Amino acid sequence: STEWSLAARPVGMPKMSDFQKTTIDVAPPGAGEVQVKNEWMSVDPYMRGRMYDRESYVPPFQIGETMQGGAVGRVTISNHPDYKEGDLVSSMAGWRTAWVAKPEMVMAQKLPDVGLPESTFLGVAGMPGLTAYAGILRIAELKEGDTVFVSGAAGAVGSTVVQIAKIKNCTVIGSAGGAEKSEFVKSLGADHVIDYKAAGGYEGLVKALKDAAPKGIDVYFDNVGGDHLTAAIECARPMARFAECGMIAQYNDTGTPVGPHNIIQVVGKQLKIQGFIVSSHADMQPAFFEDMAKWISSGQMKFEETVKEGIDKAPEAFLGLFEGANTGKMLVKLG
Ligand code: NDP
Repeated sequence: STEWSLAARPVGMPKMSDFQKTTIDVAPPGAGEVQVKNEWMSVDPYMRGRMYDRESYVPPFQIGETMQGGAVGRVTISNHPDYKEGDLVSSMAGWRTAWVAKPEMVMAQKLPDVGLPESTFLGVAGMPGLTAYAGILRIAELKEGDTVFVSGAAGAVGSTVVQIAKIKNCTVIGSAGGAEKSEFVKSLGADHVIDYKAAGGYEGLVKALKDAAPKGIDVYFDNVGGDHLTAAIECARPMARFAECGMIAQYNDTGTPVGPHNIIQVVGKQLKIQGFIVSSHADMQPAFFEDMAKWISSGQMKFEETVKEGIDKAPEAFLGLFEGANTGKMLVKLG
């Protein structure tokens, strides 16, 4: 198996030299174990958080140990009665090409056969999709007719949020970096698109938001934090709901982070600002699968993927997330 580990804890934006590649022999599976060959692995922004040595909702990566992350693969050898050769399985054993699912590890989870391409289980039908679904429907309490602002709207989570909000008959404003991504967000059905790079910072974002939503926004789905969050507070209507999904603009910060200068408006406008972690909403999985399968087959839910080929490209794919190199889900194809 070819595997990637952390060579050093990154300071600021990670560098190629923070990653180390090794090749190891995968021992044959023992009793009750299965061997898996990964076909796809995911790179996700939250992995940056695991590169810091600190306590969080997931433990930090350790220097010299193979990193982890979402992966989809096939069983190549099975010594377990519930699995047979060729079964498609998902796991958290990414950043490697092959592995053995030992009893003390989480057993590879079998994927349902719902006629979706296997890569979608790392994207629109997987963790990022469920994040969008739980965040917009449960945390933001989306209602028909809401005016919804979504940042990171060309990304895996954001592009799904845009489309769910359109399915629920909302007015949607999406923001993304650059003209090409703005076109993509428009193609997903967004009513207004803000190219935040062209808008040029906080003042520009506020102006663009006010133009798009003169009466203000009812919901903000935050993937970005920073100026986007401050602008959303500025343009929020009374009782607006904020789903705090991520703040990627801050993940590589080295100085003391700065909070929104207008946070006082949270009181007067009676804003509900709630963070969430997708794993706390696993109970929504069955409804999510059912809705997603329906929306994808009816053409209401489109999904885009940016694919890097080969395990060697994994760090590059990961770094690309912080440079906007992806439209839709960033994936590494291993097969
Ligand atoms: P994306 O597919 O959205 O990829 C990341 C995108 O972020 C880039 O393409 C880039 O788009 C944008 N970006 C990068 N740096 C900046 C910056 N400084 N300012 C503004 N935008 C930036 O990733 P995901 O969809 O996987 O994740 C989106 C967010 O959701 C992240 O914050 C992530 O941490 C969070 N998340 C949270 C989960 C939870 O449980 N709470 C679960 C999954 C994800 P552009 O070119 O438009 O700038």
